[in-house]
Amino acid sequence: MVITRFAPSPTGYLHIGGLRTALYNYLWARRNNGKFLLRIEDTDLKRNSLEAAQAIEEAFKWTGLSYDGEVVYQSQRFDLYKKYIQKLLKEKKAYLCYMSKEELDTLREEQTAKKERPRYNGKYRDFKGVPPLGIEPVVRIKAPLNGEITFEDGVKGFISFKAEDILDDFIIARSDGTPTYNFTVVIDDALMGVTDVIRGDDHLSNTPKQIVLYEALGFKIPKFFHVPMINNPQGKKLSKRDGAMDVMEYKNLGYLSEALLNFLVRLGWSHGDQEIFSLKEMIEFFDPHNINASASSYNQQKLEWLNAYYIKNAPTSKLWSEAALFGVDLSEDKNAKALADMLRERAKTMVQFVQMTNNIINEPLSYDAQAVEKFVTTSSAVYLKSYITFLEEYGGDFESATNEFLEKNALKLKDIAQLIRIALTGSSVSPSIFEIMDVIGLQAVLLRLKRFLDFLEKKGMKSE
Ligand code: GLU
Repeated sequence: MVITRFAPSPTGYLHIGGLRTALYNYLWARRNNGKFLLRIEDTDLKRNSLEAAQAIEEAFKWTGLSYDGEVVYQSQRFDLYKKYIQKLLKEKKAYLCYMSKEELDTLREEQTAKKERPRYNGKYRDFKGVPPLGIEPVVRIKAPLNGEITFEDGVKGFISFKAEDILDDFIIARSDGTPTYNFTVVIDDALMGVTDVIRGDDHLSNTPKQIVLYEALGFKIPKFFHVPMINNPQGKKLSKRDGAMDVMEYKNLGYLSEALLNFLVRLGWSHGDQEIFSLKEMIEFFDPHNINASASSYNQQKLEWLNAYYIKNAPTSKLWSEAALFGVDLSEDKNAKALADMLRERAKTMVQFVQMTNNIINEPLSYDAQAVEKFVTTSSAVYLKSYITFLEEYGGDFESATNEFLEKNALKLKDIAQLIRIALTGSSVSPSIFEIMDVIGLQAVLLRLKRFLDFLEKKGMKSE
């Protein structure tokens, strides 16, 4: 069975890079009818793991991801880690090291002066003497002194590290007894039965150390997939300036979770030239072996394009339930569908969708001064007044009414269209005036036209 996991360190929010890692692990587990586990790496007790778990819970709930079983907290597993440290010590695969900080510092200085790589010199590796007093020892693993650690990464292919270049006898437990990062990851991945580790390639240099530990502990080594980072369009590390960092911020900005997941799955993975993926299709097609070996680039326009696509194609009921999150719910309104159909073509985000809705359903509180300046002419009030009279008498739909009015008065649509638009919405940019009129109905149309006429008359314009 394929068992994957997402193992974030607590930060209090879920980063979009983290969500992509979680998504890849989730998809691979689901595709294989396996398990997707969640582990909070909170051995640094100063940071709040509950908050982090809640943030992940919230983001998963929003995006529709789910994990199996209970959340594992590393902070609750110290006894377990101790047990395995003891085991390695007993088997002489690890040892106590009494080197003081000063001694270690001196060693490093000497090595640096000789232009050597600073490293532990193995002093206590086979120590038989009497240990110095007053020093709480650390525990070090007996790492291979030479040779190579080679593994096949599912994304990057075969990777080799020279033992002497990277390993040292690295520390697995600090002098206060707490285990180090690489040690806890290995114990947990092994005991949780993780078969496939999909994680950021910032962890690549940890992998040989972890392999040394798997071997010392006699655990089966999982498959590794190291996913290249998401860069900004300039090829640098992604930062807050390039896009939101907190997953939930995307929700507040009016992105649909479907669009965000679709965006993330394609940042570093492809399936032919397909761009649009439902979650179901992602599960059907995702394979971590097809993750691109080079870094991907965050592309805000692509995200907006996807979001516009998902808004355009969402069922009306979904659009209104999404809009309700921003305080506007017209799902019960008789024009719910007409309005949604008008706006789904235009809104790139739900924030825009809601803004446009408000601009349409609410009478304008003011008129855009630049629009008035640009589109109002000396004949505007006259046109408007006779248009109002015409509409009051005419029975049919707004478009035919307007056409008939224009014909009768030898006018062109452009003579009055912007006037009507400003009267209806307060601005000169909006969806089609006839669509808006259909949605708000004759009474509201007349009211808004009359208000605007008033406004023009107050400015001193003659309407007859
Ligand atoms: N806790 C690590 C992080 O947040 C991930 C560990 C791993 O995936 O092996 O970067």
